[in-house]
Amino acid sequence: MHEMAITQSVVQAVCERMGDAPVRRVCLEIGTLSGVVADSVRFCFDLVTEGTTLEGASLEIVQPTGLARCRDCGAEFALADLLVLCTCGSANRELLAGEELKIREVEVLA
Ligand SMILES: [Zn+2]
Repeated sequence: MHEMAITQSVVQAVCERMGDAPVRRVCLEIGTLSGVVADSVRFCFDLVTEGTTLEGASLEIVQPTGLARCRDCGAEFALADLLVLCTCGSANRELLAGEELKIREVEVLA
């Protein structure tokens, strides 16, 4: 499962960054266009964190929705999926949001 590998690398990154400090909360940003299923990550998180400093930590996931700017007319528009075109008909756009996959915040026990 794709999400298992992603969750593992997230947990590993947090462990490396935080050292031995017990982690209380992790907040991830997973864009709706990233292709990653947030619910699966939630499920994997409990399995992957077992026996690590993240065990028992709560997981928060924020999901930025897709946003793009048209390179032809300059309009910004929402993208429900990657097939959406600008209202001017152009497919030449720059993706501004929606593909995020990152750790936004980690809270450790003081
Ligand atoms: Zn346009």
